[in-house]
Amino acid sequence: MGQLILANCLLYIFRPIPVPVVILCVLITMILTLLTVLVLKSSRVRKLKKENMQLTVFSRQTPLPNRNALYMDAEKIQLDCAVQDMALLYVDIDNFRYIHVIEDHDYADLVLSKVSERLVALTQPKGKVYHLSEDKFAVLFTNTGRKGMGEIMAANILAGFKERFEILGNELYINLSIGIVEHPQSNMTMQKMVTAAEIAMYKAKQAGKNHYFVYDHSLSHALKEKTNIQNHLRLAFERNEFEIYYQCQLDLNFDRIDGFEALLRWTSKELGPVPPNQFIKVAENSHLIVSLGTWVLRSSCAFLKKLEKMGYSPLNISVNVSVIQLMQDDFVPTVQETLEFLNLAPEHLELEITESMLIKSLQLVLPKLEQLRRIGVRIALDDFGTGYSSLSYLSQIPITTLKLDKSFVDKIGTEQESLTESILYLCKQLNLDIVAEGVEHNYQASYLKRMKCHKMQGYLFSRPLPEQGIIDLLKSAPTLFD
Ligand code: C2E
Ligand code: MG
Ligand code: MG
Repeated sequence: MGQLILANCLLYIFRPIPVPVVILCVLITMILTLLTVLVLKSSRVRKLKKENMQLTVFSRQTPLPNRNALYMDAEKIQLDCAVQDMALLYVDIDNFRYIHVIEDHDYADLVLSKVSERLVALTQPKGKVYHLSEDKFAVLFTNTGRKGMGEIMAANILAGFKERFEILGNELYINLSIGIVEHPQSNMTMQKMVTAAEIAMYKAKQAGKNHYFVYDHSLSHALKEKTNIQNHLRLAFERNEFEIYYQCQLDLNFDRIDGFEALLRWTSKELGPVPPNQFIKVAENSHLIVSLGTWVLRSSCAFLKKLEKMGYSPLNISVNVSVIQLMQDDFVPTVQETLEFLNLAPEHLELEITESMLIKSLQLVLPKLEQLRRIGVRIALDDFGTGYSSLSYLSQIPITTLKLDKSFVDKIGTEQESLTESILYLCKQLNLDIVAEGVEHNYQASYLKRMKCHKMQGYLFSRPLPEQGIIDLLKSAPTLFD
């Protein structure tokens, strides 16, 4: 009996399933699988889209929205009839590139996030802060209510940054320069507003940093010029558009050519000759100055060696050096290798550092200067008298030479001559070599000689010349004046 029941059960289970039922089952299974795949795929696409959106509208280094977000917000604002006016502030951290060069990137990123936090706190609730790039931020205020609100906001931000930061145990003071554009006084797109605010920010930097400046139309020409230089400078080195000119320095004790200052010249194929005062800053910002400066150092030392081999010795060479170069780890070895490679005595090389730049980053570059002095290389303080020189500063720096700025030479023969006299007196107290810059007139040369100034350089004797010009000069005039 039991066997019969079991046989019946097996027959029921394994009875043939009708074909339409099988097809229906297969179809249902396929539809369900397809639906599952579609649901999974769309949620992944949504996730990717979200991630992509985060990347395109948020800064990588800070939690702030980025430049794209600013442009997108601007589009919305344009469509919003409720928005009557706005002010855009372009905020830049003063001397941030030094933080970047000295500290590692993590530290610099930490500085950026602390700055963002403070900017947000200081501009709440009216302003929205964006991180544009590296150390540049924008703050957008809408419906400010009245003209001049941008300035009030900028002053408020600068005041708020007077309080120091504490970052990884370091106390840090961070200054900002701010450019302001107010709308609708000008009918600008947001892109144009950002650029205009950037130029105004540079104007604020020129005013001595830690300032704000409101954009006006007189600045648009400056912007065009600057963008041109930035664009063409990148290719100038590869295109061999740079050349070094040399200007004579005269020894006033022996009435002879003592040496030369190497001065960089750039003739752009598109822009024509561009003065160093216009492109050196741009080269510093992009760090191109590091390779360019090494090239100037090597080429001018090689030129000195060439003159030595031609029988013109002893002569000296002065090379201008940017603080950005000095901050590179391999700066001292580069100088040392150059001298060794050319078999040049270190005391014939003088490195010129601009006074204002040096004072600002004194503690950082001091060990390098000391190393250079130990090797025997001479150090000159360029444009002396234009910065914050004080005796206590000067006694800390291992300098050998002071280059008296042209503005003091220009005072000779005027009511302010006593100023030049006192500064020359100060230099003598310090027992340093003095080189007067920008001597254009005979009466200036005679005065400097009377005052026992050691050397001078200026158009009176020679303008900066290319290599061949210097060789011709040496051939024709070993002694240039009485
Ligand atoms: P600086 O080092 O103070 O150079 C002296 C500047 O005064 C030079 O301008 C020179 O041509 C000019 N000068 C010389 N004698 C006279 C004169 O009698 N009258 C007048 N009016 N000017 C005179 P330049 O060549 O335009 O260079 C400007 C600045 O650019 C330099 O000032 C220096 O700070 C910087 N520079 C030039 N070459 C280099 C370089 O290779 N590296 C770096 N980092 N900076 C450089
Ligand atoms: Mg110089
Ligand atoms: Mg100078």
